Amino acid sequence: MITSTRVHNFCAGPCTLPVPVLEEVRDEFLDFDGTGMSIIEASHRAAAYDAVHMEALADFRSLAAIPDDFTVLFIGGGASLQFAQVPMNLLAEGQTAGYLNTGAWGRKALGDAMKVASVYEAWSGADGSFMRMPTTDEIEVRSDARYLHVTTNETIGGIRLPELPAADIPLVSDMSSDFLSRGIDWDVHDLVYGGAQKNLGPAGLAIVVVRRDRLSTHGRNLASYLDYATHDANDSMANTPPMFAIYVMGKVLRWMKAEGGLGEFERRAAERASLVYGAIDGSDGWYTSPVDEASRSHMNIVFRLPDEDLEKRFVAEAGDAGMVNLKGHRSVGGIRASVYNAMPVASVEVLVDFMGSFRAANG
Ligand SMILES: *Cc1c(COP(=O)(O)O)cnc(C)c1O
Repeated sequence: MITSTRVHNFCAGPCTLPVPVLEEVRDEFLDFDGTGMSIIEASHRAAAYDAVHMEALADFRSLAAIPDDFTVLFIGGGASLQFAQVPMNLLAEGQTAGYLNTGAWGRKALGDAMKVASVYEAWSGADGSFMRMPTTDEIEVRSDARYLHVTTNETIGGIRLPELPAADIPLVSDMSSDFLSRGIDWDVHDLVYGGAQKNLGPAGLAIVVVRRDRLSTHGRNLASYLDYATHDANDSMANTPPMFAIYVMGKVLRWMKAEGGLGEFERRAAERASLVYGAIDGSDGWYTSPVDEASRSHMNIVFRLPDEDLEKRFVAEAGDAGMVNLKGHRSVGGIRASVYNAMPVASVEVLVDFMGSFRAANG
């Protein structure tokens, strides 16, 4: 049951989670599975937590159809730690990799990788104000590059790669903001990672899926936590894992399986996106999408109104009507509606109705 106090939360992250998951968490919060204690009070070595942890690993693997030659790691520190941990683990001394500078997150990944390895910018969207993704022939793929790093969905700019680049080198994808909302081609990847807090659960947790034969090839003297091999050898329990985040994500994954799996969530994502872009495109230019049509994100839908004053009022009046967190990122402005896996289509319909009535009143 959705209580009347719950809003339509269009936050870019952390974000709305499935109500049945939140209710389950609430119901078992004081006494998890007959243990007489909360899951956050339990030892991570206890049988009760072990079952939760191993089920989450297995459910992630089955939902994303991950082949046996990849390992799934749960690592604290969010996606941002991976900006450094990926090159530390995949690049030996002297090796290089290309990075797509597609916006705020691609740029951060590149910036941190540069601090630990000699990587290069394989394409920059700066000329086009980061309003589109590159085509394969625009990307500089050096023959000695070990991988090409891509951000499949730029959360702030509101653009996504409609298709992965057909590079002749393995891809490394940051899928933080479209994880398990679209299929993943494992054949072309060495590694896929993402923070949990957009599509999958609470913040503070990253899921890293890496080809097993890439482990321990870095030849570096890494601190044990920074070495993927440590996490792989211990089922991601080498140290105390972010237990609560994993527990909640496990429930989200179970919910996703029950709702129909990845294909169903890809379909819902396309449906939500087409509702909002349809409202933009059908407004005779009153609402405008600043991004290239082919690169339009299915997760973070950015749009503008005729002027900033109207945008402020749009955000305020939407808030009064129970729709929150619609203000665009400070670096981009305008409106941003983030519509991740757990966002009900019905909430998007409420937004689309509001867009229509707001335009009618102010257009
Ligand atoms: C949110 C986000 C990150 C950063 O995630 P943290 O868990 O906050 O470190 C990285 N990449 C993308 C694409 C994101 O959307």
